[in-house]
Amino acid sequence: MAGSPFATHEVFNQVPPLGDVDLWGDDLALQAAVAAFGASDAKETASLAAFGERWGSAEMAEFGRLANVNPPKLRTYDPHGYRVDRVEFHPAYHALMRESMTAGIHCSTWGSDGKLAMPGAFVARAARQMMSAEVEQGHQCPIVMTHAAVGALLAEPALLHDWLPKIRSCDYDPSFLSPSLKMSVTLGMGMTEKQGGSDIRANTTRAVPDGSAYRITGHKWFMSAPMSDAFLVLAQAPGGLTCFLMPRVTPEGGMNALDFKRLKDKLGNCSNASSEVEFQGAYARCCGPEGEGIKTIIRMVALTRLDCVIGALGILRAALMQAIHHVRFRTVFQKKLVDQPLMRAVVADLCLEREAALALGFRLARAFDHPDDEDEIVYARLMTPVAKLYVCKMVPAFVYECLECLGGNGYVEENPMARLYREAPLNAIWEGSGNIMALDFLRGGAREPEAAQRLIAKLARETNGLPNARAAIEQIQKLLSSGSREAHARRAVEALAQLAAAAALSAYAPAVAEAYAAHRLGGIAGRNYGDPLPDVLALDLMKRSFARA
Ligand SMILES: Cc1cc2nc3c(=O)[nH]c(=O)nc-3n(C[C@H](O)[C@H](O)[C@H](O)COP(=O)(O)OP(=O)(O)OC[C@H]3O[C@@H](n4cnc5c(N)ncnc54)[C@H](O)[C@@H]3O)c2cc1C
Repeated sequence: MAGSPFATHEVFNQVPPLGDVDLWGDDLALQAAVAAFGASDAKETASLAAFGERWGSAEMAEFGRLANVNPPKLRTYDPHGYRVDRVEFHPAYHALMRESMTAGIHCSTWGSDGKLAMPGAFVARAARQMMSAEVEQGHQCPIVMTHAAVGALLAEPALLHDWLPKIRSCDYDPSFLSPSLKMSVTLGMGMTEKQGGSDIRANTTRAVPDGSAYRITGHKWFMSAPMSDAFLVLAQAPGGLTCFLMPRVTPEGGMNALDFKRLKDKLGNCSNASSEVEFQGAYARCCGPEGEGIKTIIRMVALTRLDCVIGALGILRAALMQAIHHVRFRTVFQKKLVDQPLMRAVVADLCLEREAALALGFRLARAFDHPDDEDEIVYARLMTPVAKLYVCKMVPAFVYECLECLGGNGYVEENPMARLYREAPLNAIWEGSGNIMALDFLRGGAREPEAAQRLIAKLARETNGLPNARAAIEQIQKLLSSGSREAHARRAVEALAQLAAAAALSAYAPAVAEAYAAHRLGGIAGRNYGDPLPDVLALDLMKRSFARA
């Protein structure tokens, strides 16, 4: 209702509520990246536009808020002492899950044979995942894991045959029943144990053969989305570390022996349940050969790492949109904030950073769309850890800077910034944290040095003529050939990510690529955002990031 009956309560110079936004139509940079790297088909574009409008609605934003202020609860027993082992979620969480699954974010890249569903499927899905992460990231945990689980299931055709049809179903079904009675299923993953997460060879959970199945005894220290219908877990079998599929309901229809101890009390990601669990001789089936657990699960992990990058891009855009909206409306010292040269420099620099990250993320998604192209396979293999380290690790500082653009309003809980700030570090931790990503790249490069050199040579061609590109390549080569490569791995990987981002940008946004190369590849950027850009470019970057004025 307009106006106020209270003489002391005239509100002015506060920005108007963001209200309904169009996450596709107002994100020109996203549209350009999607067109450049894959899904430019008119039908797909129309579908992405509808998705962006729906997910940008104030109603969806409210679901996101409610799902986080009403975190899930673990109910282990009913009032009579019977085990129920259920996690209860707020209806807003279910609404988000339903919308994401209806749009197929959990499965849209997979055809009925587990192969690529259609050309450009990964890029189109990445666009949807990113827009959905702008609204709420917690519910994406089961969505992302369900999608990625197919990577591991491909190692075991019988399991793929049993599970893929229900994975591909878009009818969200949260009931706790045997998969045969459900319209759709979701899957989770259990690798991390108390004594080690990165070092999964240190898993102590044991698997004992039991007829054609196995019985698993041990624990997992983090196992998210505990209401999933099955989990890909690692355990030590007689033949070594092995990947298993552990359903929550046994084939006989009983509850499997997963003893949930508690849910984590987390810094952020509050809508998502992350459990500590013990397996008491739980039923499971082998997924892939015994002893090849890492090789099998890594196919799932590669996909979730891509999604960490895309989820991180969603958080970047959500924070940036808030910052741009604020500076366009708030007046300080007789001028709009956006017209204050220093604030313009800060926000434009944030836009530049985000555009480069976006280009890198969508270039990476494109590589997954070409499983038969040797160069793209190498790109996906070597650049996934590079992009994950670089993009995910930039999020906390980026969100913090966006938050500060809002001044004190950025620091209150009612504002989405507080939630974004708490969510910000998570993608970097999930699925292998920063150092692990850097070491992963080094290992990959050492395993296939010629492919790595070919990749760097291609990036050199794509960035030819951009400011500082040649020096950046020399620096990368120097760091990678240094005697203490491991200690230099972060610097090398960061420099490579920036080079790859410039290369990706140059494919469709040459002016942005030029500015990015000038400001980032030379290593002159300061620790904080705010490198000034020419006015025309600064305003154009803001428009590309959030077209609505
Ligand atoms: C909200 C949330 C949900 C999660 N959900 C799941 C889930 O569903 N399933 C699951 O399996 N796991 C899950 N995890 C666990 C997560 O994947 C791990 O926490 C992560 O992989 C890191 O493992 P760790 O915690 O054991 O840390 P550690 O392995 O102990 O690593 C600690 C630090 O040391 C660094 N480090 C490790 N090795 C080296 C090295 N050789 N050289 C230099 N540095 C090194 C790492 O980069 C990290 O910074 C979840 C975590 C969180 C926070």
